[in-house]
This record gives sequence, C-alpha cells and structure tokens, in this order.
Amino acid sequence: MRVLLVEDNPTLSKSLTDALTQARFAVDCMHDGEAADHILRTQDYALVILDLGLPKLDGLEVLRRLRQRRNPVPVLILTAHGSVEDRVKGLDLGADDYLAKPFELTELEARARALIRRSHGHEHTRVECGPLAYDSVDRGFRLDDEPLALTPRERAVLEVLILRNGRAINKETLSEKIFGIDESVNADAIEIYVHRLRKKLEKSAVAIVTLRGLGYLLEVKA
Ligand code: CA
Repeated sequence: MRVLLVEDNPTLSKSLTDALTQARFAVDCMHDGEAADHILRTQDYALVILDLGLPKLDGLEVLRRLRQRRNPVPVLILTAHGSVEDRVKGLDLGADDYLAKPFELTELEARARALIRRSHGHEHTRVECGPLAYDSVDRGFRLDDEPLALTPRERAVLEVLILRNGRAINKETLSEKIFGIDESVNADAIEIYVHRLRKKLEKSAVAIVTLRGLGYLLEVKA
C-alpha cells in the first residue's frame, strides 16, 4: 500500500515515515505543498497524510486542488493543536479525517488503515474472498482458516487484489499502488510475486486469474 506523507518538519516526517514503513506501507514523503501538489497529479496513492502548515503552498490549498481534480484518494489531515478552524476548513474541503498534533503513532496507523479500508468500500475489518480472509487490523491473511505465510511484497500484492473486490487491475497500476517512487521496481517484478502467490493458493478454492487486456483478478474458482 502506497502512502504519500506531506510534512515539512524533518523530525516528525522521519518518525512518521519509519512508523508507516514498519506498519508495512510504502511511503513517499514530500516536504512542501508545491511538491505534493505536483506528485499528486501523476501518482496514485492509497492514502495521503497531509500536514496543513506547509511551505510554498499550504495544505488546505493542496487539498482544494486535489478535490477540484476529482481525485477521490482518502486524505488524513494533520492539524496544529487546538486549531478548530483549520480542521473544519479541511473537512469542508474534502478531508476524510484529521489528527491534531501531537498524536500517538498507533492512532495514526489505526486511522490510516480505517480510511484505506473504507475507501475500498469495506465497512468491516475482515474482507473475504471464498476461503481467503484478510484482516485489515493486523494485515494478516488466513486461507481455509489457517494463517497464510507471505513475504512483505506478496502480502502487498494480495492486499491490493482482495481489496479490489472482484475488479481486475493491470500490472502497472498494481505496481504503482505497492511500491514507493524511490523503489526501483520493474512492473514485471509483479509477475514474479503473482506467480509465487498462485503457488501458495493453488490447492485452495481461490485463484488469481489473468484477464486479457485487463490484468489480474482474485476470484473464487467455479
Ligand atoms: Ca508544518
């Protein structure tokens, strides 16, 4: 899951990046509003964590432009302690949630997971596809009620597929959703992860199928 963090404070942005990476998100970090606005025009993220007080372009303006382009990506705003006005403006401009500084990293992670889950149309923490179940709280998979052992990248691929809820996704988009821009991953690497996942799923009633021209789809075998 790829997350864009926009935070100009170097200490905070470092600790947030570390925490999110630890929580198995791929994190791109921008330190001013202009850079954030720029990258949001070309890259696709599962979530944007946006500080409001930013150099060059403030966070509210980044958010306003994002929604003006009808980009529906979930946005969690970070507001200064006690600034009710900013929080209200942010929510009015289309932010999905907010956290007032200072906050606990565990709370940030929990809100991030909830926003991503809801943006995929899942109200509950558990998502199922036949015998395969995904729990968005611990980000673990179970197959036929047994824990399924996955490498971090296999997990990332399978997460995107199960949250797509029966819609296909092509290799390039899948790769964009998983890897940060600094990770030099060839979209073809996705094929390797899909191959390994297919092996792990092969004895079960769920499979990753390839639809010509559309990409990969996770589905229950007929
Ligand atoms: Ca700031």
